[in-house]
Amino acid sequence: MTSIPGGPAMPAHLLSLARATTGFMPDDEGLALYRAACLATSLARGPLLEVGAYCGKSTVYLGAAARRGGRILFSVDHHRGSEENQAGWDHHDPRLVDPGNGRMDTLPWWRRTVEAAGLEPWVVGVVGDSSTVARHWGTPLALVFIDGGHGSEPAWADYWGWAPHVGMGGILAIHDVFPDPADGGRPPFELWCRALESGAFAEVSACGSLRVLRRVSAGC
Ligand code: SAH
Ligand code: MG
Repeated sequence: MTSIPGGPAMPAHLLSLARATTGFMPDDEGLALYRAACLATSLARGPLLEVGAYCGKSTVYLGAAARRGGRILFSVDHHRGSEENQAGWDHHDPRLVDPGNGRMDTLPWWRRTVEAAGLEPWVVGVVGDSSTVARHWGTPLALVFIDGGHGSEPAWADYWGWAPHVGMGGILAIHDVFPDPADGGRPPFELWCRALESGAFAEVSACGSLRVLRRVSAGC
């Protein structure tokens, strides 16, 4: 699978801001995410939603597509960091710790990013646990991007919580899909396998560890 050929160009100021934002999204995958989201707005109705916002890097790519398509992006994160973001783990960044309570807090960073991007009219932050929000969600979505907790429990909770809300023709994008276990953890790969095996989703494109799927029938 290759990237979506020749998709729309992302506005230069948003592209450079996204690239400069702290986070876990290589440049080529970010652009592929933007293109997937543009495709979503042409294929399906409804807002876009991401799980796992961190400091807003993926939010800018997706928010740019939301603005272009006249949609809203809901950006879900409790902003307390995943297990792998906590002190002592590989992906810990001490700048993101709130000195007042010693806990991770990426919300101020996320907010500054969205403001600097000028995307506040199109991006709504939802601060809370992803599976709790999913349980109360009712609106069909044009795109769901899963990039939250990468452990087995949170990753599957995101799949079962959010995949059902992808509307017909809509996009399910999953980050950190590594077919070779030597490259990274299993859960996102297992989610991607499940989505394909279910018959409800078909692969559209891949770029690095980003996998883009499209809903072709009901279920998940
Ligand atoms: N998409 C981001 C990276 C996300 S990192 C980028 O482009 O850089 C994963 C994020 O998922 C973290 O910010 C963490 O707080 C969030 N997260 C992990 N488990 C969560 C849960 N159960 N509910 C909400 N957010 C969660
Ligand atoms: Mg990721």
